[in-house]
Amino acid sequence: MDEQLLFDNIANLLQRVRRSAGKSQYHNSDILVIAASKGHLAEDIRTTHACGLRHFGESYLQEALQKMAALEDLDLAWHFIGPIQSNKTGPIAQHFDWAHSVDRIKIARRLNEQRPQHLLPLQVCLQVNISGEASKSGTTIEELPELARAVLELPNLRLRGLMAIPAANTDTDQQREAFGRMREALARLRTLAPDIDTLSMGMSADVENAIIEGATAIRVGTAIFGPRNR
Ligand SMILES: *Cc1c(COP(=O)(O)O)cnc(C)c1O
Repeated sequence: MDEQLLFDNIANLLQRVRRSAGKSQYHNSDILVIAASKGHLAEDIRTTHACGLRHFGESYLQEALQKMAALEDLDLAWHFIGPIQSNKTGPIAQHFDWAHSVDRIKIARRLNEQRPQHLLPLQVCLQVNISGEASKSGTTIEELPELARAVLELPNLRLRGLMAIPAANTDTDQQREAFGRMREALARLRTLAPDIDTLSMGMSADVENAIIEGATAIRVGTAIFGPRNR
């Protein structure tokens, strides 16, 4: 991908992030930008890193492992953001810094068992199916406390917060309503886990409203890299 275009896309994105953080009443000045690089080449990740980003989100394990091998010389942080099947937990626990899509106790236990001892605990977000879509992964708000309690018991996982992919919606009020429910869910969960600090929400189309409602980590693909090849 053209280096200048990538640079301009990132500059535009960072401007959107700054502007919306300025409009938010939830003091979120330190927003983590995760480049959702699934479907894009290792070389484009290398260029993105040269433009100043170091956090990358991947959804497909094999694809991610190939890119990690090709980019071993760089100091990157890898976030697993796709659905986690039980047979994928080993490599995720071994190769990633974060998993944003933990939505079942069984998956959490496997990640905990398979996290190598020489690594820091795996940083974990619990994925919430905030729009209640039958087709989407994620736990319900009602089941969150039980899942959170289980994760807090696991020494090789560190619970950081919540993640959501709300139903695609072009209506600003409806976007904000869903993101706002996530912020409230995180606040309630703090009674169980006072240290949690991460609200992973907002993608290319809804970054502004996610940040206005308190996002601390955004996962952005298209606005950085353009359309995906897969
Ligand atoms: C692909 C993906 C994104 C980025 O989506 P864009 O609309 O391309 O910004 C964010 N989160 C998850 C979980 C994804 O799979």
